Amino acid sequence: MIADNEIDLAASRALVIVACAALDRGESAGHETSIAKTFVSEAVGRVVDRAIQLCGGMGVSDDLPLARLAREIRPFRIYDGPSEVHRWSIARRASRRAEAS
Ligand SMILES: Cc1cc2nc3c(=O)[nH]c(=O)nc-3n(C[C@H](O)[C@H](O)[C@H](O)COP(=O)(O)OP(=O)(O)OC[C@H]3O[C@@H](n4cnc5c(N)ncnc54)[C@H](O)[C@@H]3O)c2cc1C
Repeated sequence: MIADNEIDLAASRALVIVACAALDRGESAGHETSIAKTFVSEAVGRVVDRAIQLCGGMGVSDDLPLARLAREIRPFRIYDGPSEVHRWSIARRASRRAEAS
């Protein structure tokens, strides 16, 4: 679970860097930011959930901040565009790129 958290965190950082690099080049970067937002907002939920599981009962107690974190990060998948809507945009852009190539 620790390894899976590291993988999710590393992939999240990489996708944010890709999106920021596209913005730095002056591109609209809608595709890259949608991919990063969707992945990171879902990855952070997986990371905290694994951390809770690793800690057992302590993980859901008020002695650790994990249960509070889990509650606070859940809206990440909803605001600034819910995951389903970002996936729709990502798929639409990917389809257009495939048609154009
Ligand atoms: C903590 C928090 C802070 C917020 N802050 C702001 C803010 O500062 N400014 C602001 O303007 N708004 C803010 N919002 C509102 C937020 O942007 C909306 O909640 C969000 O856009 C989703 O809209 P909705 O709640 O009306 O859900 P809906 O649009 O009703 O969506 C409900 C569900 O249906 C799914 N869905 C919708 N359309 C499709 C589709 N075409 N295909 C598949 N699934 C679909 C969604 O993915 C979602 O799971 C905030 C929300 C939260 C929870």
